[in-house]
Amino acid sequence: MFARVLAPLAVASSFFTCVVPTVSATPTSPFDLFSRTPAAGIDVKSLAPYLSATAKIYLPDTKEFATYTTRWSNLQAPTPSIVIAPGTEKDVQKIVKFANDRNIPFLTYNGHHGTLTTLGKMDYGIEIYLPQLNSISIAKDGKSATIGGGANVKNLTDTPWDAGKQTVTGCCECVSYLGPALGGGHGWFQGHYGLITDQFLSMNIVLANGDFRTIDSKSDLWWGMQGAGHNFGVVTSVTTKVYDIEHYDWAIETIVFSGDKIEQVYEAANKYILQGGKQSADIHDWTYWQNDARYDTEGPVIIIYIVQEGVTTVDAKYTAPFHDIGPLAATPQSGTYKDLAKWTGIALESPPCQDFGFNNPRFPIYIKSYNVTAQRKAWDLYSSAVAEADNPYYNSIFMFEDYASGAVRDRSSDASAFGFRDAHTLAAPLIIYNSTGQAQDEAVKELGTQLREIIREGTGSSELHTYVNYAYGDEGPGAWYGHEDWRQKKLKALKRKYDPKGKFSFYAPIA
Ligand SMILES: Cc1cc2nc3c(=O)[nH]c(=O)nc-3n(C[C@H](O)[C@H](O)[C@H](O)COP(=O)(O)OP(=O)(O)OC[C@H]3O[C@@H](n4cnc5c(N)ncnc54)[C@H](O)[C@@H]3O)c2cc1C
Repeated sequence: MFARVLAPLAVASSFFTCVVPTVSATPTSPFDLFSRTPAAGIDVKSLAPYLSATAKIYLPDTKEFATYTTRWSNLQAPTPSIVIAPGTEKDVQKIVKFANDRNIPFLTYNGHHGTLTTLGKMDYGIEIYLPQLNSISIAKDGKSATIGGGANVKNLTDTPWDAGKQTVTGCCECVSYLGPALGGGHGWFQGHYGLITDQFLSMNIVLANGDFRTIDSKSDLWWGMQGAGHNFGVVTSVTTKVYDIEHYDWAIETIVFSGDKIEQVYEAANKYILQGGKQSADIHDWTYWQNDARYDTEGPVIIIYIVQEGVTTVDAKYTAPFHDIGPLAATPQSGTYKDLAKWTGIALESPPCQDFGFNNPRFPIYIKSYNVTAQRKAWDLYSSAVAEADNPYYNSIFMFEDYASGAVRDRSSDASAFGFRDAHTLAAPLIIYNSTGQAQDEAVKELGTQLREIIREGTGSSELHTYVNYAYGDEGPGAWYGHEDWRQKKLKALKRKYDPKGKFSFYAPIA
């Protein structure tokens, strides 16, 4: 995926390619890139000879710098001064040490879909761009695979599947494998095997002090890496469990409803799919509230994807109750696991995998079942806020992701830093807009927070339980990692031990 570019002024050695800007801008030269650090005037070239032959450095005003700093969401996005793409795991260590020696901030970029507003605090420094580390190697015994820290979901869907294997990954093809995993990680196989992080056997990690370690469940850090992992290091590779494929057939039925059917749709979802926590591991549903010009409705429609494993048509016991409600359309499809992203609109070529330059904040909340009264109240507010083609929020989506989750609950709540194993569904309004400035950003924050509050009130709990990887950014460590005192103390103690200077505190910081 990387072109080896040699610009006319390139500082190249036999070990290394450095792409320099061809047009002047600020900062212009490699010498003033980090002028805000105490060690102003750092020559980034001095790092070059120590990196591997495939490492790359991209300075501002190169096409690659622009490409690799682009984010999926522009809201309070980080703004690095330089991009360094390690070619090997040990390159990451050298970059971290280089940055530490000079007191330069750094941030790992992987699938670039992280959205927390806390990322905006990274307003200069080094972007460590990981996607070159995308190797996948399946062990001879077929029970595990070692995966590079920069592999993405598409890599992890296709490569094991083509070898007759499967494992838990995120669902969206352009998101990285590790970004979701470090916060727990939801995916289609979690009903069988648990979260993405629950599959991990060991990992290579570069710690805040630059140490390169291989850790596993014997390390005290292991607990923290499984849910709050963004806080402790750069994971350069992981070894994870993989499983023989159980079912080659997968099916989906996409059913569309007008908004007046809200109550019936969520009563049916509670009764026939969630089943009070007894949801079968082979069945999942997502609902999206979104505008869709194909349907002549006032305001958005409700789209439900019902996904089932091991069948060529979704079982009528799941679909018939929805057909009985009177949908606008119902479309069955069948294929394999590799079709799921395309069916649900999150394949490499789908809109969520493009960078449109929009602000895309989400306001997530975990719930155990649908409170139909709250769903109606949220619908009324949401549809009035996003309806009509000239509405700035027209492209927004209110999502309810109900994955099978039995095996997530099989592990006890205190077994890892992921704090919300008792949740069944992840709800989140995603307000998509082309920002006109801070006033609009504030208005969106108010709208998203209000929508989430309606759902929270419907849970009957005063606590907010969020998925850290969907979080807006202002929820705080209790809502991201779990509110228990012991949990917060344990997280803080790990942070003090492994990252006392907060080098890894741009993404949902523990403290
Ligand atoms: C369209 C879309 C679909 C999604 N689908 C899913 C899904 O199916 N399941 C799910 O659980 N989540 C999903 N998410 C949420 C996802 O978990 C987060 O957005 C996550 O931050 C994305 O990681 P990334 O590497 O793509 O993004 P990045 O912005 O590159 O990374 C986010 C943060 O993760 C950290 N990080 C990433 N890689 C490493 C590493 N190797 N070592 C150390 N730190 C690292 C860094 O702190 C970085 O700031 C989705 C998000 C979007 C926008």
